[in-house]
Amino acid sequence: MLDDTVISKLQAPQHTQPFSQNNHQRVSVGLAQGDGIGPEITQAVVDILKAADAPIDFVPIAMGEQSYLSGATSGIDEQAWAKLRQHRILLKGPITTPQGGGYKSINVTLRKSLGLFANIRPCQSWAPWIKTRHPAMDVLIVRENEEDTYAGIEHRQTQEVTQCLKLISRPGCERLIRYGFELAQAQGRKTVHCLTKDNIMKLTDGLFHKVFDEVAEDYPNIEAKHLIIDIGSALLADQPEQFEVIIAPNLYGDILSDVAAQLTGSVGLGGSANIGQDFAMFEAVHGSAPDIAGCDVANPSGMLFAALQMLRYTGAADVAERIQTAWQATMAAGLHTADIFSTEQSNQKLGTQAFAQAVIERL
Ligand code: NAD
Repeated sequence: MLDDTVISKLQAPQHTQPFSQNNHQRVSVGLAQGDGIGPEITQAVVDILKAADAPIDFVPIAMGEQSYLSGATSGIDEQAWAKLRQHRILLKGPITTPQGGGYKSINVTLRKSLGLFANIRPCQSWAPWIKTRHPAMDVLIVRENEEDTYAGIEHRQTQEVTQCLKLISRPGCERLIRYGFELAQAQGRKTVHCLTKDNIMKLTDGLFHKVFDEVAEDYPNIEAKHLIIDIGSALLADQPEQFEVIIAPNLYGDILSDVAAQLTGSVGLGGSANIGQDFAMFEAVHGSAPDIAGCDVANPSGMLFAALQMLRYTGAADVAERIQTAWQATMAAGLHTADIFSTEQSNQKLGTQAFAQAVIERL
C-alpha cells in the first residue's frame, strides 16, 4: 500500500533537460512505417533526415496491419519486440486501430509495455505563414501515458452492460507531473495548468490534482493552476494563448492535444515524444488518416516534428535546428500541403514528397 502522505523523491530522467548537447554519436533507431498515410510521411521524414546528414541509422521494424495479417494477433511479433528491446528508440508512423472491436491498440500496448509514462505534445502556431486564429499560441501538452481509462481494464458485465475502470496511481501521477514541471522549468515557461474532473471523479482525478499541488510546491517560480476539464477545454479552444503548459491524465490529454494541434492550423502539424526511463518513441499526434492514404497529400510535418524531438533526445539538437530552419523557410515561401493551404498565405500546394523535397532544398 502506498503511503499517501509521502511524496517519493523520484527524479525526472536525465533527458528531461532540453536535449541541447550535441554529441554527434551515431544512434540506431527502430523505424516503423505505420499504416494508412504512415509509409508516405515516414519516407518524407527519412529523406529529410538523410539529406541533413542526421547521425541516425534506421532499423526497419514491422508492426501494425501488415504484421497482423501475417499472423501476429497483437500487431507486433516477437522479432519486432526483440528489435525494440535492442534499439530502445522508435520513430513510428501512425497505426490503424480497429474501432469498437478487433485487436487492442498497438500504440497503447507500446506505451504500456515500454513504460513510456510521459507523452509530450508541443502545439505551436506558425503565424504568419500558416493560417490560424491564434497566432500567439504556444502550448506544451504533457499527457500521462500509461494509466487512466487507457489502462485497458474493460469488461462486458452482461450483454447490455459494459465497464471500463479508470486507474490512477500516485507514482504514475508523480513522475509524469514532475516531468512536466521539469520541462516547463527547462523551457523557461512560467505557468503550468492541471486539467481534471476532480469535482466528479473525486478519488482518481482527485489524486492527480492532489499530487499536482504537492509537486508544484517544489517549483515555487512556476505558477501552478488547476481547471476543471470542461471549462479548461473550452478556454483552450477559445483562448489557447492563455496556456503555456497543460498537464493532464491520459484521456483528457489525448483529446486536448488533437484540439490544440488543429488550432495551430492542422492536426497534421503535431509531433510528439513518448518518454520512459529506458525507452522512447516518437510519432505524430494524428492517426493513419485512411481517407487520404496513398494520395500523396498528407502533411509530413507532424511526423517531422516528432523526428526533431528524437534528434534532440539523441544529442543532435543542431541537426534538428537546421531542419527546423529549412522547414520554416519552406513555410515562409508559401509551399504548403493541402491541409494548411490557404489563398491568403500559400503560393503553391505541394504533395507529401514534393514538400519533403522543398524542405531538403532549403537545408
Ligand atoms: P486521423 O488523425 O487519422 O485523421 C483525422 C482527420 O485529419 C482526417 O480527415 C485526416 O485526413 C486528417 N489528417 C490526419 N493527419 C493528417 C496529415 N498528416 N495531413 C493531412 N491531413 C491529416 O484520425 P482518425 O481518422 O480518427 O483515425 C484513423 C486511424 O488512426 C484510427 O484507426 C485510429 O485508431 C488511428 N490513430 C492512431 C494514432 C497513432 O498511431 N498514434 C493516433 C490517433 C489515431
